[in-house]
Amino acid sequence: MATARRKPRLKPKKRSNRSWRVILDALCRSRVLERDGHRCVRCGSDAWVQWSHVYTRRILCLRWDTRNSKALCASCHRWWHDNPAESGPWWVEWAGEDVATELARIRAELPHVEFEDIERQLKAGD
Ligand SMILES: [Zn+2]
Repeated sequence: MATARRKPRLKPKKRSNRSWRVILDALCRSRVLERDGHRCVRCGSDAWVQWSHVYTRRILCLRWDTRNSKALCASCHRWWHDNPAESGPWWVEWAGEDVATELARIRAELPHVEFEDIERQLKAGD
């Protein structure tokens, strides 16, 4: 019974939304940590460096946009979440006004997300 033969698959298995998220999270995380030199961009620490978002990763059109991400150590990451009034201006200074404006525009428009396109962009290093 356990050795029953399976039918050969004609088409490659489609990735579920859940597995897309896992794959793209890993890709984006490693891009961002690489870009930021595996150091906290706020204090320079290389201990407990985490992938952090500007706009929450619940917003899929920004979740894998590397401009919406930064490397933060665990304590700066906590500070980031606990002090939105201070962390906002700090981040704009770090990322630049243009990036902040562009992310706010995307946030307002909420464009549709194609997982394949995002994977291609992240692999190309855009
Ligand atoms: Zn830090």
